[in-house]
Amino acid sequence: MRKYSVFAVAREALRAHKGWGAQWASPEPRSSYDVIIIGGGGHGLGAAYYLAKEHGITNVAVLEKGWIGGGNTGRNTTIIRSNYLYEESMDIYEHSLKLWENLSQELNYNVMYSPRGVMMLSHNIHDKQSFMRHVHANNLYGIDNEWLTPEQAKDFVPVLDISKSARYPINGAALQRRGGTARHDAVAWGYARAASDRGVHIIQNCEVKAIRRGPNGEVTGVETSKGFIGAKKIGVSASGHNSMIMEMADVKLPLHSNPLQALVSEPMKPIFPCVVMSNSVHAYISQSDKGEFVIGAGTDQYNSYSQTGGLQIITHTLDAICELFPMFRRVKMMRQWGGITDNTPDRSAIQSVTPVPNLFVNAGWGTGGFKATPGSAHLFAHLIARGEPHRLAEGLTLKRFETGRLIDEAAAAAVAH
Ligand SMILES: Cc1cc2nc3c(=O)[nH]c(=O)nc-3n(C[C@H](O)[C@H](O)[C@H](O)COP(=O)(O)OP(=O)(O)OC[C@H]3O[C@@H](n4cnc5c(N)ncnc54)[C@H](O)[C@@H]3O)c2cc1C
Repeated sequence: MRKYSVFAVAREALRAHKGWGAQWASPEPRSSYDVIIIGGGGHGLGAAYYLAKEHGITNVAVLEKGWIGGGNTGRNTTIIRSNYLYEESMDIYEHSLKLWENLSQELNYNVMYSPRGVMMLSHNIHDKQSFMRHVHANNLYGIDNEWLTPEQAKDFVPVLDISKSARYPINGAALQRRGGTARHDAVAWGYARAASDRGVHIIQNCEVKAIRRGPNGEVTGVETSKGFIGAKKIGVSASGHNSMIMEMADVKLPLHSNPLQALVSEPMKPIFPCVVMSNSVHAYISQSDKGEFVIGAGTDQYNSYSQTGGLQIITHTLDAICELFPMFRRVKMMRQWGGITDNTPDRSAIQSVTPVPNLFVNAGWGTGGFKATPGSAHLFAHLIARGEPHRLAEGLTLKRFETGRLIDEAAAAAVAH
């Protein structure tokens, strides 16, 4: 961890005295900014931080309609991994994973990144072929991912039932040991504090209602619940709502929004050492540092902006968890919630310039954008500052929907994560 100076200790004491985060939350907006970022989740706050830190652009405001981290950043199940199939995905998720490894030190804020391993169970020959393809592709690209026999999988997760008589027999597993979890909302707070320290304004309870444009079609600012705020550039990073916001500038995106749910159990003694996912059975589970089981469900199949989700989806998930781990049948569930994900046809993200001058978009992270937070934020800042994508994000632009060069990561997203 970074060493504290006397001043840093004094600053922290002052902060504690004022109440958590009181000095940076919701200043009155200026009349105009060099850059406005719409959406105060991890991606938007992180992009503001990297704009200030790496590009020297500090006249920046992050506009959040609710409270920072109250969107998907604070609602997800925090699985972090980089074992995707295609180079475009491996580039960005591995870049992100490397940033995760040092993020607490970078922000001087404990984001509780825990590389405890992510294990994907294989139940049939199709799973096995698909996971081995991922293992080989990842290894060729220099990313760790390994194939385990059922016995090796059980050594890693002793509560696995690898008997042939199990309801869903396990014929192996893929394990990415550097994958793991982190503390979801700490990521938003850590980036917010670090961005604020560099002069970024973080304005909560400020909903963007319209995007204003000048004579040449370029953006000039936004109408918000706090009035008009001018901007030379606008970055849209409002997971689940990106298509609605882009329509304010007459840009139609290939996105659809679906609810996604999760739930946590009562706290238990530590029993579960890593994240276990089953694409075939459609469930995944890990145990938080507080002892709660964190369980993720599948996506609702209908489009909606509801932050709840369908009952049949969540009951299906619990059925699946109980079949995989019968010993958890009597565990009580404490909380259930939903978030809104925005999804592209190829299940890969969009980070792109748009037909509107000085309007940039970061969208379509679907069910799996938490793991991308530092990488996406870092590369989105580059896009906004330079007006062109970073080499690691070149494949994610809107151009692929014209050329047809899609990045089909449907297998990676077979179960939400
Ligand atoms: C239940 C669930 C489980 C998930 N599990 C995982 C997982 O295990 N691993 C993983 O990698 N990913 C997971 N995800 C996906 C992940 O949470 C998201 O991809 C990621 O958090 C998106 O971050 P963000 O900063 O882009 O969005 P958000 O945190 O949603 O931030 C966007 C913000 O924009 C704001 N906003 C919207 N409209 C406006 C407006 N008009 N004006 C101003 N602000 C606005 C919202 O209030 C919100 O705070 C999961 C998602 C859910 C819902």
